[in-house]
Amino acid sequence: MRCRAECRTGHAGDPKAKMLRRLGGPAPKGMCANCAVTEWMVNTYPVNMIIEESEHGPSLLLYPHIQEQFVVIMRSGNADMIPEEIDWELVVKNWALPLKVKTSPMNPHRPGDGVKRALAHMEFADEVAEFEAGARALLRSRGVDDATIDAALSRGKQRVN
Ligand SMILES: [Zn+2]
Repeated sequence: MRCRAECRTGHAGDPKAKMLRRLGGPAPKGMCANCAVTEWMVNTYPVNMIIEESEHGPSLLLYPHIQEQFVVIMRSGNADMIPEEIDWELVVKNWALPLKVKTSPMNPHRPGDGVKRALAHMEFADEVAEFEAGARALLRSRGVDDATIDAALSRGKQRVN
């Protein structure tokens, strides 16, 4: 059990379901509907990457048009769940709770990849800005005019990119 909600019990899973299949049985080790949806998303590429790299993060899932897209995915995957079982607010609220992540050639995305990339980019941008300020000060102290400095720094940026 990932969150405190009850597991999805009651009946055995639909063998035709390609996603979100119920485990059934008397003492299932399954999850609630919301956690099952989260587990599916965290382990499904490129859904996981899109959510993580979105500026909204998991809150992206609160947008009705995103939820509608997921309902379409559920239908096409013959999901063993109805859309009304999903409490999107809880999915978002519990997003960071631990989950089993299965990376594979079908799922190359690891949780945190997007965040790491964003952080790396931020540090890099900070370093570039710092470097640029330092270079500008140095060139000015040598009597180089701003137009020449701007031209030189923009050439440097092109090389970096
Ligand atoms: Zn749960």
